[in-house]
Amino acid sequence: MKYLFDPVTPSVAIVAQIERFPVNRIYCVGRNYAAHAREMGGSPERESPFFFSKPSNAVTDNGAMLPFPSRTQDLHHEVELVVALSGEALANKGQELSLVEAKSAIYGYAVGIDFTRRDLQAEAKENARPWDTAKGFDNSAPVSAITPAAQAGSIESATISLLVNGELRQLGMISDLIWNIPELIAELSTYYRLRPGDLIFTGTPAGVSAVGPGDVMEGRIDNLETLKIGFSASL
Ligand code: MN
Repeated sequence: MKYLFDPVTPSVAIVAQIERFPVNRIYCVGRNYAAHAREMGGSPERESPFFFSKPSNAVTDNGAMLPFPSRTQDLHHEVELVVALSGEALANKGQELSLVEAKSAIYGYAVGIDFTRRDLQAEAKENARPWDTAKGFDNSAPVSAITPAAQAGSIESATISLLVNGELRQLGMISDLIWNIPELIAELSTYYRLRPGDLIFTGTPAGVSAVGPGDVMEGRIDNLETLKIGFSASL
């Protein structure tokens, strides 16, 4: 096959491996922790979590120093457990996965930040418009190196946290997910044919807040590589 120009394959590092994980799609879950649903003005008792997506080239490697995103006065961090999918279950099927098939489709886990232009999201919500400019911009999905599931220990009992300039802002437990990981994959597979290379941002715990130029963010989940991302000081 010949292309007009060289295509770029977005990818994420894998812990202790030379091979990188090629990214197909990035799916995200909204309001998958009750305390965050409440801080966003929702009611976890009455509303289910929901899905949106980001372009695959929104991924950014761990350790990056990024330019501060344009067109926002209210950029929020959302630290999230990222699930990377691959394996036989997806090669053969990919849609309407059972919980067992969903579990077997998990390649590994990483720490991600779902950066959000909260001002643009609020405007979109108010006007019933799409979220793309609020969620799907360049560098809006930094991801740490992926740890294969077998080496990640009991991810369900891990804590998840985010520090800004060394100060704790977000803290939660993966066990507090409203839709747990296999449920999430199975539910998503009723909407889309899931493929090897898909990433799922599983939702953020409470404590989202604004960051600005010069800030350094550190996302942590037990047993996974810590994610460290900075914004350059000048706009
Ligand atoms: Mn999010």
